[in-house]
Amino acid sequence: MGMSGTETGCLAGDLLVLGGGLTGLALAAAVGGAGYQVLVVERDRYPRMLAGPYDGRATAVARGSKRLLDALGVWPAILPHAEPIREILVAEAGSPVEVRYDSMELDGEPLGWIVENRRIREALLGRVRELPAVRLFEGEEVAEIRRDAFAARLALASGRRLSAPLLAICEGRLSRSRERLGIGARRWDYGQTGIVCTLRHERPHGGVAVERFFPDGPFAVLPMPGDRSSIVWALEDGLAAAMRELDDTAFAAEVEERFGDRLGAVSVEGPRWYYPLVLVWSERYTDWRVALVGDTARGIHPISGQGWNLALRDVAAVAETVVERLRLGLDPGEPAALESYEAWRRFDSLALVAITDGINRLFANDLLPLRLARNVGLALVERLPPAKRFFMRHAMGMVGDLPRLMRGEPL
Ligand SMILES: Cc1cc2nc3c(=O)[nH]c(=O)nc-3n(C[C@H](O)[C@H](O)[C@H](O)COP(=O)(O)OP(=O)(O)OC[C@H]3O[C@@H](n4cnc5c(N)ncnc54)[C@H](O)[C@@H]3O)c2cc1C
Repeated sequence: MGMSGTETGCLAGDLLVLGGGLTGLALAAAVGGAGYQVLVVERDRYPRMLAGPYDGRATAVARGSKRLLDALGVWPAILPHAEPIREILVAEAGSPVEVRYDSMELDGEPLGWIVENRRIREALLGRVRELPAVRLFEGEEVAEIRRDAFAARLALASGRRLSAPLLAICEGRLSRSRERLGIGARRWDYGQTGIVCTLRHERPHGGVAVERFFPDGPFAVLPMPGDRSSIVWALEDGLAAAMRELDDTAFAAEVEERFGDRLGAVSVEGPRWYYPLVLVWSERYTDWRVALVGDTARGIHPISGQGWNLALRDVAAVAETVVERLRLGLDPGEPAALESYEAWRRFDSLALVAITDGINRLFANDLLPLRLARNVGLALVERLPPAKRFFMRHAMGMVGDLPRLMRGEPL
């Protein structure tokens, strides 16, 4: 298989990737790393995407995702910036019941790693740029998408034309191309905003991540390298807007109230980011010569830090399907290939939409019976080691019919 120009000036590859964010780059690294020609189109420009103000988030990278990143040759560049999670504490504010997930209860390996998104983006981009099989077109807009019996074809606003037997759309939850192709998506606005910032604290965090549920929204503390933690605080939109108005000192006081005094005095480091929280659920994950991957397939609530982990399971499944078929000389974009991708991903996806949505609703309610049910639920999980181990393994991306990359095996 190869990249070739034709007399019509169209560049042909084995896979087209629309959207070179965290998901699109990972997919390009997987398929390009196996030697197949990948053409990636990103509308933004990387110097801007790697600069500090672009993305203030840190991601909880689950074990399965780390294995995939390792298999793609990306992990060594991430590791120096990754903070291992040794323990996760889940509790409801004001309740004595607490669930503690300790890596020592499993096998002593970290439960996951916290890494700043810009570090992950930088590492993926570095890898993709090393691969001769991947071509990256940045600062490019799609003008037209056409599909026929042999290929998906893109006309870019710059006049460039690209084609491949399969088009993977990785444009995030508000994908324009998904809309352009008439693939419907349901949306649910949580009426919440995710506030993200970094805290510096007096005492070391010891690798403990905390998810604490307050009636006005969940508050997560993710340990970062140095005596720092990343905060993800989902607040009702009106309250979040009020937080935006506060100066740094007043904001720090609000954060400290939820953070507690476990780690001594705290201060907010750098800017705050605000992300509107919307659940987006695509009607289907595939269409004629098209696969939706990552947040374009479904974008979930950040409550348990699973969005990109789920996206990487899509990446692993698409990459395995595509590479296996290309090796056999088969068409990676034909309906049988797409059906197998859709079937592989639907259950996991649905489960996480339901879990994250359910947890958010359950804890966002202050009715007494629900409070009691929550406490009983948390206490039960805490006392039942097999259930607890199952939740831990699921959150770490180690349950179900895992694609090869998720098991750390090469394609
Ligand atoms: C507050 C918050 C905290 C989170 N924390 C975690 C966590 O701890 N763990 C976790 O696993 N997940 C987490 N997530 C989810 C995670 O951020 C997303 O799942 C992830 O960013 C999805 O990546 P993506 O590449 O699919 O989409 P995006 O990040 O949205 O990237 C899409 C890319 O496509 C490009 N693009 C868009 N449209 C076009 C177009 N028409 N043409 C060309 N290019 C286009 C964009 O410029 C962008 O580069 C969190 C999310 C939020 C909001």
